[in-house]
Amino acid sequence: MIQGQVVEVCYNTQTAVDDKHKLVVATHTINRNDRNALSAIALEAKENLKANEFTLLADKGYNNAREIEACQQNDLKTIVAQQELVNSNPKGTTKEYLVDKFKYNKKNDTYTCPAGQTLTTFGTWHTKKRDDKISYHYKKYRTPECKNCPVKYLCTGKAKGGREIERSQYAESVERNNKNYSKNQSLYRKRQEINEHIFGTIKRKWGYYYTNLIGLEKVNGEWSFIMLNYNIKRVLNIFTLDDLMLTLKNWKPKYRKEWLFAFIVAHLNRIIRIKYFQTNFAA
Ligand code: SF4
Repeated sequence: MIQGQVVEVCYNTQTAVDDKHKLVVATHTINRNDRNALSAIALEAKENLKANEFTLLADKGYNNAREIEACQQNDLKTIVAQQELVNSNPKGTTKEYLVDKFKYNKKNDTYTCPAGQTLTTFGTWHTKKRDDKISYHYKKYRTPECKNCPVKYLCTGKAKGGREIERSQYAESVERNNKNYSKNQSLYRKRQEINEHIFGTIKRKWGYYYTNLIGLEKVNGEWSFIMLNYNIKRVLNIFTLDDLMLTLKNWKPKYRKEWLFAFIVAHLNRIIRIKYFQTNFAA
């Protein structure tokens, strides 16, 4: 704490959960928002599961074209909720003429607008920058027919010139994701069932509303222990305690499993109490 000034430190925990057993299959802590976090946690889960492919469900906070493409390039089927398209200029484009109403024609690399006109590109890649860094590349599509268009006032607020559509280098991956999202609504709705109860248990039942440590590396370690504890509890609902101990005994991780055993021994009392409760009182 600096005198006279409040210093707020925020951490953001990323967690991937499998839908079959509701176990945490990957977790780490970051100190930025979810926007650029999707591929790191998804690929960590892929590595931990030794899976060639799986379907990835994520809320719209993770919707970032570059991240979606990175996941798809690694054989993950993405179902990431779409950000709502908004009209940034109330005197400009109306709802019926938002970009999603323009149909892309892959063969000709053109767009067809709602009035049936064809928008073409010179093929030049432009650069979009954010905070002085290259964010992504895109092409522009236009048609000279805009100047004679009777519905131009609904399509663009520009007095001079016509409508311009931008297509990013990630557009194909985004379109694939959006198709997955609209076709798999009932599957997407399972996302909350799969992972939100973990945070309910950890925060409300166990009281982890805050971290005891400070510093990304230390918080990451603290959070990983919390999640490991959660998984051990969860595994006891799937396996018997004997099965769990046998599996750990035969487990051959790349790193030293003594650390995990030390942790389990430290928590053995708790595990045995849970097991005792399950055996004697669970329905
Ligand atoms: S203004 Fe241009 S892009 Fe928009 S509907 Fe008319 S012709 Fe199509």
